[in-house]
Amino acid sequence: MKALPGGSVIGILGGGQLGRMLASAAAQLGFDVHIFAPEDSPPAARVAAMHWQSAYDDESALREFADACDVITYEFENIPVSSVDYLVSLGAVVRPGTSSLEKSQDRLAEKRFLNSIGIETGRYEAVSSVDELSAALETLGGEGILKTRREGYDGKGQARIKAGDDLGAAFGAVGKVPAILEALVPFEREISVVIARAPDGRTSVFEPSMNEHGGGILRTSTVPCGLPGSTIERAVSLAEILARETGHVGVLALELFVLNDGTLLANEFAPRVHNSGHWTPEACLTGQFEQHIRAIAGWPLGPVTRVFDARMQNLLGEEALAPPESFGDGAVITLYGKRDAKPGRKMGHVVRRTVKS
Ligand code: AMP
Repeated sequence: MKALPGGSVIGILGGGQLGRMLASAAAQLGFDVHIFAPEDSPPAARVAAMHWQSAYDDESALREFADACDVITYEFENIPVSSVDYLVSLGAVVRPGTSSLEKSQDRLAEKRFLNSIGIETGRYEAVSSVDELSAALETLGGEGILKTRREGYDGKGQARIKAGDDLGAAFGAVGKVPAILEALVPFEREISVVIARAPDGRTSVFEPSMNEHGGGILRTSTVPCGLPGSTIERAVSLAEILARETGHVGVLALELFVLNDGTLLANEFAPRVHNSGHWTPEACLTGQFEQHIRAIAGWPLGPVTRVFDARMQNLLGEEALAPPESFGDGAVITLYGKRDAKPGRKMGHVVRRTVKS
């Protein structure tokens, strides 16, 4: 595919804040964005040229959508793979494609895949019954985090357990669905690497950020991440391996635990722009949203040189309702236009920048 000219239509499956920020970046490059999402008036649809309000498995709507779009992408990883396969079967250009999507939808398949391409993870066991949970807990030393294989995010579908706990209740709490038990990783810090891969295989990697979580939800991402250059180089090379081995086109993010001795263990990856990359538009010559649009549109990737030190803070629930001046001078505020500020819901973020150290 040649570089898409301005005025072309970019389709996005999903209507959340990531779609909203992708749509804004695409509009700046002269594209029209069509959002395909089942919700009524989702955040992304309110900044896009068109909203296709249909279920993700509505084949006749997907057919018309494929006809209307020059390239199609997605903004969250729980889009049914069958819908993406269907779009591809119609001849639509879907970037990133299905390989990274499929692997990231199932924590067990994802971890096995990461291990198969030489990316280490913490120890884990597949669990699909209370008996298996009990055996896995013993194998992993009597403590762990139980996570559903599918559809968990922001700490949902997870339960921390230890020997002596009521395992039936723990398995019930995650819905009695296929799960994995992960050993607790004694990390020194968490980082993530956001990488873009172009259709010709070229890559461009943002500097890793240090990420702090609370209750399983990302709270802050900070650059520089404070790690030695050699560790940063290894983290970057792991993201390059992942992007290459999945044949991904567009942006993806690899989350890593860093141990005291510098060992890097992958937690998970997201086949899309990522919350921990929200500092990039404000602190780098090119931000992750523009970079994703450039990659899927066949444009040259932009330079990702970081020009500020930066700290991104998520605004959860009512934190986003604070008066703008309360965030301080120079804080760059992004609000997602969500109407219901439920506790823990990602409503926006602020980026605070200082002169690069
Ligand atoms: P996840 O939804 O799997 O990304 O988990 C959310 C957060 O929970 C991670 O970013 C970590 O802070 C923490 N966490 C998840 N899995 C583990 C683990 N196996 N060991 C220690 N902390 C974990």
